[in-house]
Amino acid sequence: MEHQLIQSIIEITRARDTDTLETSLLSTLADILPVDNVAMINLLDELKLEKCEQTLSLGVSRSDEDEEIRIWSNAIKSMELAPEIGTQIHDRKMAIVENADEMTVYVPLFDETDPAYLIELHATGQDLREYANLIEGIAGIYSNFLRVLEDSQRDKLTGLLNRRTFDKKLVRMMELQRKVVEDYGDSDADRRTPARHEYAWLAIIDIDHFKKVNDVHGHIYGDEVILTVGQRMKQFFRNTDLLFRFGGEEFLVVLEPMPRDRARMALDRFRDSVEAHVFQQIGGITVSVGFARLEEQDYPPEVIDRADKALYYAKENGRNMVANYEQLLDEGLIEARSVPSGEIDLF
Ligand code: GH3
Ligand code: MG
Ligand code: MG
Repeated sequence: MEHQLIQSIIEITRARDTDTLETSLLSTLADILPVDNVAMINLLDELKLEKCEQTLSLGVSRSDEDEEIRIWSNAIKSMELAPEIGTQIHDRKMAIVENADEMTVYVPLFDETDPAYLIELHATGQDLREYANLIEGIAGIYSNFLRVLEDSQRDKLTGLLNRRTFDKKLVRMMELQRKVVEDYGDSDADRRTPARHEYAWLAIIDIDHFKKVNDVHGHIYGDEVILTVGQRMKQFFRNTDLLFRFGGEEFLVVLEPMPRDRARMALDRFRDSVEAHVFQQIGGITVSVGFARLEEQDYPPEVIDRADKALYYAKENGRNMVANYEQLLDEGLIEARSVPSGEIDLF
């Protein structure tokens, strides 16, 4: 047991990004506890347990030949948790729900001060209370290490994701999107629902005439503008959208699948809200936005390139505006970029 535990800790701390860390946490728990299912639950809205999502789960069973079978699922599943576990979770304690010979344990994981995730452990005919210290110890190691990794994925000034994590996060988002399309394809009726044809969107937000802010007021004020735009993004977009500070005064947003008009409206409202903000020293600033559809087979630089083309158009045509690549193409306002496959620089 001791040896296995040390091995598990080594495994957990080997992870270099938060997604890998989640996977190794669940497989560690399945290795050392008599559980038949372990899952990660994302609490979307602080302590409102009626609004959460299962993001990753691992089922463990035995075949007739006594061989262990493990099934992973990363399909995002909305779920509601029993309200009676709320008090314990709030007090940073494990909560236990028993039903005949089944036992489900919820372990809160804290993100600064609020619980942000729960680990859900399910066992049949086993009393997981015996393992309480072990479970809490592993959850503690995981939480601490998660904080270290999250720090390394974030930009110091704004707290948004940094450029280094972009490719990985985008690839994962596209995998999830493919999954949504596949799941919708299961029945004929579902096939007709509009969601099947909705795409995620990538937007680049660039502050207009930012050099002037630096030149006239100095770098410190420039930084304050960057910080404010980053904070507005966090307030404005959903926490399921991916938000990045991509470079100096450039930001990137990946919007979840929705119709193009809705994406444009959201981005335009954001642009508006930046324009309305008054900075004490420098008055107002504006941003320009270019956005493009995330195709299923996209390679990250390709979609950035399309969004960037739309951004360039916005900059050339008055700034303080939102432009969409596909629409500009349809209207003949820009030309498609044809890239012979050999020309894409892969590294
Ligand atoms: P445009 O409207 O065409 O975007 O004009 P612009 O002046 O914003 O031009 P550009 O996007 O090329 O300017 C980027 C400037 O941002 C250049 C650089 O001095 C400044 N910058 C980059 N990173 C930082 C940062 O972290 N802090 C501050 N204060 N300035 C930065
Ligand atoms: Mg720029
Ligand atoms: Mg700029």
